Amino acid sequence: DLRVRFAPSPTGYLHVGGARTALFNWLYARHFGGTFILRIEDTDTERSTKESVDAILQGMEWLGLDWDEGPFYQTDNFPLYKQHVRTLLDQGKAYRCWCRPEELEAKREAAMAEGRKPKYDGTCRHRQDQPLDQPHVIRFRAPEEGETAFNDLIKGRIVFPNAELDDLIISRTDGTPTYNFCVVIDDALMRISHVIRGDDHVNNTPRQIQLYEALGYPVPLFAHVPMILGSDKARLSKRHGATSVIAYRDMGYLPEALNNYLVRLGWSHGDDEIFSRDEMVEKFDIANVGRSASVFNPEKLNWLNAHYIKQSAPDRLAELLRPHLASRGVTDTTTPGLAGVVATLQERSQTLEEMAERALFYYRAPESYDEAALAKFEAAHLTAVFAAVAAKLSAATVGSAAEIDGLFKDICTENNWKMPQVGQPVRVALSGGTQAPGIGEIVTALGMPESVARIQRAGA
Ligand code: GLU
Repeated sequence: DLRVRFAPSPTGYLHVGGARTALFNWLYARHFGGTFILRIEDTDTERSTKESVDAILQGMEWLGLDWDEGPFYQTDNFPLYKQHVRTLLDQGKAYRCWCRPEELEAKREAAMAEGRKPKYDGTCRHRQDQPLDQPHVIRFRAPEEGETAFNDLIKGRIVFPNAELDDLIISRTDGTPTYNFCVVIDDALMRISHVIRGDDHVNNTPRQIQLYEALGYPVPLFAHVPMILGSDKARLSKRHGATSVIAYRDMGYLPEALNNYLVRLGWSHGDDEIFSRDEMVEKFDIANVGRSASVFNPEKLNWLNAHYIKQSAPDRLAELLRPHLASRGVTDTTTPGLAGVVATLQERSQTLEEMAERALFYYRAPESYDEAALAKFEAAHLTAVFAAVAAKLSAATVGSAAEIDGLFKDICTENNWKMPQVGQPVRVALSGGTQAPGIGEIVTALGMPESVARIQRAGA
């Protein structure tokens, strides 16, 4: 049974790195018909928040990463962890440690000063003379000799000498279990077969393997995914730009574009760049995840987003665009119809934010005109153009963009004008500026009466 999980700590929003880990797990499960589990690792009660849980769930839902089991919360499992701590204590595989933090700190400093790697010295390994009501932690009795190794599905064989791993604290003075311990219990009891996570957890893995073995649970397979870096090769962080999945939604990215972008961060399939969701599921395998870190490239994300914007049905884009227009004060998008407007902008927008900005002129007649663009023409020419166009359009029945472009060709022929001499002023009259879709497209989307009214206003 293939069972994988995404196990975020709810101490912030869903980061693109976390989303990529979630996506890889999700794809792996979907590819092999396995089970994808969501587990919220909220044992750090100081830093975990409900808002963060909501933000993570929202980000996953937006990306369409649906889970089959969960969300489970580690804070619901404290009794289970405590029971496992007791088992290890009873079996002598864990022991109470009364060393005080300041003693440990002094020893650590001494080790550092002598150039040794600090490690718990095992003072309490055989100590039983301390009363149970004295503050103490519980440590795992880790093997002192030999090595702990695993075959990482991405990185290959990784070996840690046991002498380097000290006796991990599994339960704190206040009785709360620690992160590495909870992860093992949960992964074991949830029967996780493959642990796919960021490679910042590589160093935790040998400790976790030792715990599985001590508890008599089967050890899962591990796949540690290399980090995502910023353009300066430092770990991706806020100073490289937005790192929250929901921020990408708000900036006008489509979920399929972000998924397609994220799947290629570390994974490849030949030279292919565009993957529909089904193709990703069909082709994804951990075997094709690379060993080196990937650099986050916003231009490539923009390129993919532009691709998916072009591909999307106008009706759907219209729905997605609505909040971006609303934040610009445009809430009534009935006239002209938003899907028609979207159709004129799909070919030239990289994000929905950009599209919303470009759509504004449809809902707000220009209050001023690009004077520099108009200044290229004689005033008498402009007057003649606006009059001729208004007359022609008023007489026409609404047609397709191509038919309307045909009307403009007729106007040029009849008046002996070249297309830019007509097109440029009309574009300014309709939109206020020169950066706009083709005239036929604008007039079709805007509707004949409003188009005529705008041209007459410009000519007045
Ligand atoms: N909760 C851990 C984190 O957010 C993930 C642990 C794991 O995947 O094993 O980094």
